[in-house]
Amino acid sequence: MSHPRDQSNNLRVDRLVIVSNRLPIVLTKGDLGDWQVQPGSGGLVTALAPVLRDRGGLWIGWPGTVEEVDLDGLVAIGSQDAGYILKPVKLTAEEANQYYFGFSNEIIWPLFHDMQSRCNFDPAYWNMYQAVNCKFAQVIAQNTGMNDYIWVHDYHLTLVAKELRGMELECKIGFFLHIPFPPLDIFIKLPWRLQILRALLEYDLIGFQTTRDRNNFIHCVEALIKSIRYDTRRQVSTITVPNREIRVGVFPISIDFNEFARQAAAKSVAERASLLYEAIPNCQIILGVDRLDYSKGIPEKLQAFRNTLERFDDLQGKVTLVQIVVPSREDIPEYRELKTEIEGLVSEINGKFTQPGWIPIQYMFRNLERTELLAYYRAAEIALVTPLKDGMNLVAKEYCAAKVDTNGVLILSEFAGAATQLRRNSLLVNPYDIEGVANAIHRAYNMSRDERRSRMRRLRKSIQKRDIFWWVDSFLGQPLPIR
Ligand code: UDP
Repeated sequence: MSHPRDQSNNLRVDRLVIVSNRLPIVLTKGDLGDWQVQPGSGGLVTALAPVLRDRGGLWIGWPGTVEEVDLDGLVAIGSQDAGYILKPVKLTAEEANQYYFGFSNEIIWPLFHDMQSRCNFDPAYWNMYQAVNCKFAQVIAQNTGMNDYIWVHDYHLTLVAKELRGMELECKIGFFLHIPFPPLDIFIKLPWRLQILRALLEYDLIGFQTTRDRNNFIHCVEALIKSIRYDTRRQVSTITVPNREIRVGVFPISIDFNEFARQAAAKSVAERASLLYEAIPNCQIILGVDRLDYSKGIPEKLQAFRNTLERFDDLQGKVTLVQIVVPSREDIPEYRELKTEIEGLVSEINGKFTQPGWIPIQYMFRNLERTELLAYYRAAEIALVTPLKDGMNLVAKEYCAAKVDTNGVLILSEFAGAATQLRRNSLLVNPYDIEGVANAIHRAYNMSRDERRSRMRRLRKSIQKRDIFWWVDSFLGQPLPIR
């Protein structure tokens, strides 16, 4: 793996400092009030951990609890297990509430997913968002030096570079936005649009998931900020503000493909997949795996499945939709309402179509163990990934990686970031087009084995080529402008 390096003046950057809302640990409280620390999982941690270990790096973030506990002690245990240093940013309940649940998840999240009507533009949220970004910057400033490369992640922390510059920290700072960046017409609804855009321009490198996101950002900057110039001829564009340049690039995030494929090929997973398969005899399994979120388009997907059963009645008794919904953000009322809506639709569809020996939808509302998830990926002939808008959507990539026998069809929303890479060999759909999605399900069901296999082979190859390690390397290997 390459090392972060300032290629413009050949200064070697000493350490990598990762900053994200959450630290890569999970703190859980036992029945007796004792606390446990477990390492976080997921692609980002897997890809960054070796770099941080090699370089003696640092990860700064919120440990995820506002309870009165010995956070320093618990985080120190987490550091020991991880093999690199973790530094906590401690938040009070009010800070977490207004910065995280409020500004991040009731304003930026819906707005950046094109759902402006779901935004709650509460000015108190903005004040707290600024205060908490400043708190993050203070912890960073206390723990870093001139030659560190600070890599800030995601929409919770757009203001961190601006705060650090205010503290006269002149080291290189990169930013990666994991969610989409909206078009100008939507972005300008944000009451604090100028502050956020200007703050983003304090980073040296800004990474987006897709060219569309990058172009949306550049159009917003062009429309709202004076005295800038930009050059979009290269894969990584340059924006010039007075006295300074900012690089703006496209870095589609991915998964640890080889590890997924290896785990999916294990005997235990194969046996579990066979059991799932036998439990639903004579049916093709259509799989949906989504976090509970309105951006995932779960009600629309259920309507499309109902439409499939109505219009293609030969599929009744021949397909089963296994819909896994992973609990998320249930403290926000809209998420609780969404759950009720989903459960209403599931029971309505099952009530209408169930026959002896066949239930159209198997619905689960819980977190799955890795082996169980892999077994579902393996057992499903069709994956139905239909977000209304998504930064990338890793489930789409994981499904392909786990499909070691290549007998699977990916139906994919054109509004998922993953569509830019996987469009040719998936069945691309508009998730709002209920009949269009139903047609794609019908087509996937009837697709020949040969066509399935050749499409899946190509999907797997392209994901393997640009995996999570490629993503880290390409972001960190990007030459930065001289400040
Ligand atoms: N996932 C999980 N628990 C589950 C099922 C899935 O943690 O029970 C994981 C899944 O493996 C994937 C992630 O959740 O890595 C979802 O990522 P994606 O990009 O699809 O959507 P996000 O939830 O980040 O918006």
